[in-house]
Amino acid sequence: MVNFHIMTLFPNMVLSGLHTSILGRAAERGYISIEAINIRDYTQDKHGKVDDYTYGGGAGMLMQAQPVYDAYQSIVERIGQDRKRRVIYVSPQGKTFHQEMAQELSGEEDLIFLCGHYEGIDERVIEEIVTDEISLGDYVLTGGELAAMVMVDAIARLVPGVLHNGESAVTESFGDGLLEYPQYSRPEIWHEKRVPEVLLSGDHAKVDAWRLEQSLLRTKERRPDLYEKYLELHPPVEKKKRRKREAAEG
Ligand code: SAM
Repeated sequence: MVNFHIMTLFPNMVLSGLHTSILGRAAERGYISIEAINIRDYTQDKHGKVDDYTYGGGAGMLMQAQPVYDAYQSIVERIGQDRKRRVIYVSPQGKTFHQEMAQELSGEEDLIFLCGHYEGIDERVIEEIVTDEISLGDYVLTGGELAAMVMVDAIARLVPGVLHNGESAVTESFGDGLLEYPQYSRPEIWHEKRVPEVLLSGDHAKVDAWRLEQSLLRTKERRPDLYEKYLELHPPVEKKKRRKREAAEG
């Protein structure tokens, strides 16, 4: 089970997106839990302000350290001081998110996401509480909520029990380092396009071989970087034999 704690100024945005469909069902069944902590609830400012001007000047406002830190402390007190936790600041300055990261994080029990807004967050509180800084990609969003939602979704679906068919996360794109093969559903003919014959054959070995071939072709064409990596880890038979021969010959 993974508990997701999302620190944000927009709790409704996060919760409405993440308590829907597969993740909503998984939360109901206790495979994951998702809570949103409203950073504004923790400000000591009597007008409810959580941001201020940046020292040194420049456009825009910055989220202040105090409300972020107190919101974080409230989570730590609730889950227990001694409990292992990862605190992820979603930020364009972090490492770029990918499937292996999602896989690794799905093994944690408590993941705290910190969503910035405006110009970002006072550096001092980031230094004090954050363990991982992760980016969704090389572009700038107005806030961290969408990034956190994407990451929570990708991580949560790898938690055992969340997907109905335990296999599906493995056969999907990136599960084995390749992009997934093309898929088809009824009818057999649509807009004069036929479903590939092999998929109707009932011969599972042939279907598996066709799917692997399609995955390889698709990955080579669309993501040559992934294809090269895959070949390194799964050298074709001839290459394997040659390596063995060379090793035997010393
Ligand atoms: N001033 C910051 C900079 O130049 O690095 C950008 C701040 S951005 C407008 C506001 C917030 O959106 C950030 O604090 C972060 O939480 C979130 N954000 C923006 N782009 C993101 C990205 N690519 N990945 C993850 N979070 C992002």
